[in-house]
Amino acid sequence: MSILESAFEKRNKKQNKVEKVKSLKSPMDSYTKLEEIAKGGYENLTKEDSSYFLKCFGLFDKGEDFMLRVRIPIGQLNNEQAMRIGEVAQKYGNDYIDLTTRMQIELRYLQIENIAKVLSELKEVGISTFQTGVDNPRNTVADPLDGLAFDNIINVKAIVERLQSLVIENPEWISVLPRKFNTGILGSLSNSCNIFGHDCCFVLANSNGEFGFNVYLGARVGVQSKDANIFVSVDEVSDFYMALLETFKTYGYRDNRNKNRLHFLLQDVGVEAFVDEIKRRAGKDFSPAGQTLVQSQNIALGSNRVLLKNGKYAYKVIVPSGIFSGSDMIELASRAKGFGSGNIRLTYDQNIFIVDIDKSALDALESTTIISKYKAFNNIYFNDMIACAGTKTCSFGVIPNKPDAIEMAHFLNSEIAIESGMVRMNWSACPKGCGVHGIADIGFEGCKAKDDEGNRVDGVHIFIGGKITRVAKEARVLHKTLPITEAKYHIKYLLQTYAQYKQR
Ligand code: SF4
Repeated sequence: MSILESAFEKRNKKQNKVEKVKSLKSPMDSYTKLEEIAKGGYENLTKEDSSYFLKCFGLFDKGEDFMLRVRIPIGQLNNEQAMRIGEVAQKYGNDYIDLTTRMQIELRYLQIENIAKVLSELKEVGISTFQTGVDNPRNTVADPLDGLAFDNIINVKAIVERLQSLVIENPEWISVLPRKFNTGILGSLSNSCNIFGHDCCFVLANSNGEFGFNVYLGARVGVQSKDANIFVSVDEVSDFYMALLETFKTYGYRDNRNKNRLHFLLQDVGVEAFVDEIKRRAGKDFSPAGQTLVQSQNIALGSNRVLLKNGKYAYKVIVPSGIFSGSDMIELASRAKGFGSGNIRLTYDQNIFIVDIDKSALDALESTTIISKYKAFNNIYFNDMIACAGTKTCSFGVIPNKPDAIEMAHFLNSEIAIESGMVRMNWSACPKGCGVHGIADIGFEGCKAKDDEGNRVDGVHIFIGGKITRVAKEARVLHKTLPITEAKYHIKYLLQTYAQYKQR
């Protein structure tokens, strides 16, 4: 018996509850009956559709309404798609849009009777919501300026399209994995998408003069991915990826869901045995790792005008905590068309680039109403801030989070305005860590704390010193269980020291 088979046998004697739900039917049965489900109204929604099957298509039951997670491969939207998302949010979703750290968007407040219409209006412009929830290959992230940035060596768009065509909307790959599976692919020198933070990470590398990707595997919250000692050429990515998914599907654990991300399988069998199985399935002996080329954090950090290799500019619109609206998306898309190519790029830090703007048009762009509105947030505290959903829209949330992050950034900017520099503040409202606080310069994890009078109040654990450069590093704990009202003074002190150091 191979090491993978014996690990599988040990961990699959008992199946978890979700696996039992998954065995009830094919998710496509729910998808094809969406109109019927909608007509039946909220009261007739079955428990398994609400708790699992609809999530395979991005639909999350929030009690009175639905959240819809929309797949935006590597964060790229053409003008028509951006406009349509804005219109759909306006028409059906209280004009609200959340930008997420997987470079996609979430629409909220959707009524059950409108769901089929929403999906069909998105589909008309080539937007899918398939496999954006539960046990599926989730949205792939990349450099938001892929194909445009000066430091972009491999334009990964065609590779991602190929991977999508093999897996997304393919019933054979809907809900067949033991757990969610995140993928990142970076063809640039700078780490603009937390590239070491996914289950599968293709990282720009050089092997004997050929550019391709070194593979890193098995990240999860609080743990960066491990070097798999494999180099894949551009043409080999899809073979490797499909063999990887097959291996995880076959041997991934289906008992304890708290311990069944790819990370746990790798921990038990070792990366080498896992990779040997991938090679066997792919029928290829991939080369050993080349030289990983990622060198720095995102080149666009700290600046909102970025010169591109075609001589034009990208303009970064800072969206506090990723809270956006349909109206603003429409307005932004219209300006993106008027001043640039019309395309829009969503970033991993919940902001938006409009691209291909002539240098001579930048000042005029900045004076438009929509850009002026968000320009107010262009300071070091907001520029690279990340904040997950929080209590308002996520049942796991312990603190509101998005408003806390915004309040903290405003407070710091009013107390210690620092003109240039970079402070990446990431906020997660619970230990699940969707706000990637563990890799932040200053990370916040929501908790409950006690104030001076012993009252239970919103609090945070504070982390510092995370890194997303070539040697990714998890932040360390600075303070545990501080009321947020107190935490801001600790951070102010920290930033005062940073400001002094910067001046020297
Ligand atoms: S970190 Fe927790 S609260 Fe935030 S989105 Fe994830 S699960 Fe929800």
